Amino acid sequence: MKISQHCKFRLLPNQEQEILLNQAIGSARFVWNQILAKSFEMFAKDEFIRYETIEKNLVPLKKIPEFSFLGDTYSACLQQKIRDLATAWKKFYNAKEQAKLKQKPFKPKKPRFFKLADGSEVQLRPLMPRFKKKSDGEQSFRLPFQDCDVVGDRVSLPKKTGWIKFKKSQEIVGKITSVTIKKICGLWYISFCTNREVEQPIHPSKSAIGIDLGVKKLITTSSGQVFDPINSFKANQVKLARLQRKLRKKTKFSQNWKKLNLKINKLHHHIANIRHDYLHKVTTTLSKNHAMIVVEDLKVANMSKSAKGSIEKKGKNVKAKSGLNKSILDQGLSMLVDMLEYKQLWRGGLLVKIDPRYTSQTCSSCGHVAKENRQTQAKFECVECGFSENADINASCNILAAGHAVLSVEGGCGKGRPVKQKASEIREEVT
Ligand SMILES: [Zn+2]
Repeated sequence: MKISQHCKFRLLPNQEQEILLNQAIGSARFVWNQILAKSFEMFAKDEFIRYETIEKNLVPLKKIPEFSFLGDTYSACLQQKIRDLATAWKKFYNAKEQAKLKQKPFKPKKPRFFKLADGSEVQLRPLMPRFKKKSDGEQSFRLPFQDCDVVGDRVSLPKKTGWIKFKKSQEIVGKITSVTIKKICGLWYISFCTNREVEQPIHPSKSAIGIDLGVKKLITTSSGQVFDPINSFKANQVKLARLQRKLRKKTKFSQNWKKLNLKINKLHHHIANIRHDYLHKVTTTLSKNHAMIVVEDLKVANMSKSAKGSIEKKGKNVKAKSGLNKSILDQGLSMLVDMLEYKQLWRGGLLVKIDPRYTSQTCSSCGHVAKENRQTQAKFECVECGFSENADINASCNILAAGHAVLSVEGGCGKGRPVKQKASEIREEVT
């Protein structure tokens, strides 16, 4: 089995190195924007946009005297940026991605246009790559590993950058294929993309659980275990909302606005870090202890909101009113499922996704389905057999049962693993 993994660390460049890294980030962004403008011209002419056709524009761009600064930075990172742009266009052209987009409820937005040199306009459509700004919260560039080296807790980059220290919090396992350097809210990070071949692992446990995902209780397992969401999250949300109200009163792009905007971005980053860390801990615990984990398919859950009182309704309890909060919560849950998916795969376990319909209205004791079974948010009481249980535990028991049913239809654990290989999804192409 092939495992692809990203190992991310804090990077600690000195002042001179920081200048070089900033230069690379700026040049990579510049190239992205220039080539993107070129590809809009191609789009207007109905030409198909792919790496080979847009990459041709790089050398002429470097030869323009005003853009000679492009020659001062790592040339490979500019190439990689064009590769990323080509990948972004590929997503736009992908019929599956476009179909996914249609399923999401979208508020109609005012159409935006990009003006071409000849005066005509191209309408910016969803999924099309966008121009990058210096003020974007996250900026990055990538280098193939052959230009770099790692010894201990130091990494060397080409072009006289020399050795840069990083906070090595874990061992880097496997063959490093590429190095990504990110700047998030003024902090530097380095991420090593690694590949390794391992023997198919066998999960040490034989237990199976169903889990119910929610907002008030993050996870309720069919064995009655409850994982609460993290508290600091809520406190920071209040702080964030206050800062955002303040920002709205400031003149856009003024010095004070910029200062406050950076503060908001930093807080966003902080919240994301806390959430990420917590989700990792929870998913590792679950994945270590259970060979089979059954969850609701969130994609289906979003489509059939009415059936399950759904994530949205539960969200009332934490005042998930604004669109932003809601999207953060949804993101959190799908991130959690993604983590479970690859962690189970790496341990030789199984993650089964099931249709979430009726899981909260079905009696896990006799199988009777009725709306009336669920009198309140917390309590489940069957009108048919009188079985009484906490509503979330009842739901997770149903989820587990549905998971067993899915497996028996597919012919047991051995055949047709329902889990898609995460490893192949997160791998980045580097040449
Ligand atoms: Zn019953």
